[in-house]
Amino acid sequence: MATHTPTEATGSGVIPVSDPARREPVLTIEDLDVHFPANDGSVARVVDRLRLTVNRNEIIGIAGESGSGKTTLVEAILGISRFPNRRLNGRVLFETRTRGQVDLATISARQMRRLRLEEIAYIPQGSMNSLNPVLRVGDQIADGMIDHGVPAGQARGRVPELLERVGLEARVARLFPHELSGGMKQRVIIAIAIAMSPSLIVADEPTTALDVNVQRRILETLARLRDEMQVAIMLVSHDMAVHAQLVDRVGIMYAGQIVETGEVREAVKRPMHPYTAGLMQAIPSIDRPRARMEGIRGATPSPRNWPEGCRFHDRCPRAMPVCRTIPPLLAEPVAGRREGVTGPVDVIAGRQVACHLYPESTPPEARSDGSGRPAATTEAAR
Ligand code: SF4
Repeated sequence: MATHTPTEATGSGVIPVSDPARREPVLTIEDLDVHFPANDGSVARVVDRLRLTVNRNEIIGIAGESGSGKTTLVEAILGISRFPNRRLNGRVLFETRTRGQVDLATISARQMRRLRLEEIAYIPQGSMNSLNPVLRVGDQIADGMIDHGVPAGQARGRVPELLERVGLEARVARLFPHELSGGMKQRVIIAIAIAMSPSLIVADEPTTALDVNVQRRILETLARLRDEMQVAIMLVSHDMAVHAQLVDRVGIMYAGQIVETGEVREAVKRPMHPYTAGLMQAIPSIDRPRARMEGIRGATPSPRNWPEGCRFHDRCPRAMPVCRTIPPLLAEPVAGRREGVTGPVDVIAGRQVACHLYPESTPPEARSDGSGRPAATTEAAR
């Protein structure tokens, strides 16, 4: 029977779907809104009714074009507010080690400061340039721990081990940032992030500006740390190649919402959402016959004026009349062989999609013929 409740995917990357550790959520985002009212009375709904779960010991990738709301989502999770007019609604439930479940959307700034680094680490975009140029690397790694109550001697004593964990020699602790390459700086940032053994690392474009070899080694380091520390990693990147190399499960973001999630290799090879298919077709491949690259037509709409119905409908080659009026739900399609947008898909537990091509995504009240397909879809198919 179709599942209409948008329960979150579990995926099956390196660790099998049935692995109970993998299925245990560490972060559950329920109907998150991050809105910004403007002086002219309009509201930019940058993140809008977003749902997502991050499980323990998994690497989840968040992908999407610029302007889809990825960084705003990350800032909401981390309690970072660059604009004072931000309005936050919904729940961001995080399982702490000692205090049970807390809602990151409502805790105080002081509580959030404690959680950051101790339990949730953040690797922001361009963070390798944020190292203090006049402080030795070892002091910068120890500072975060000392700030969180670790005695100074103990914090400094941990620095060599942390450097080793990220693939650097202990002697790097004595160096200044200008003596390091870009890849080494990024490893130092990762050492700072793991210093307090967090349960969740949020990494926003962690390999941007690094060459592909260094990028690959950094990604391998993150994968190894996930295994060694049993930490969940949320990796935000517009680069599908990065996701394909590292993550277990990918969430595709469009117009402030997650529109598809699934085990990364399946989602990349056999997308179910037309937007995911468009993203994949825009990536050059040496396996495919040479042909003109077709991007996704049109541009991402403005968060001040998301289209009615499915937000992708005016760019979608599969749009139907129902798509213009009824927003599809993020739902888990029935398992088994289904027709995806580029051919058959073997749907396994945990795949989710928000598209009227799959009846599970159409709200029950919008269905009228008992077939599970909305009436407008049936008409369009005639
Ligand atoms: Fe395209 Fe309709 Fe699916 Fe939206 S709901 S992606 S417009 S087919």
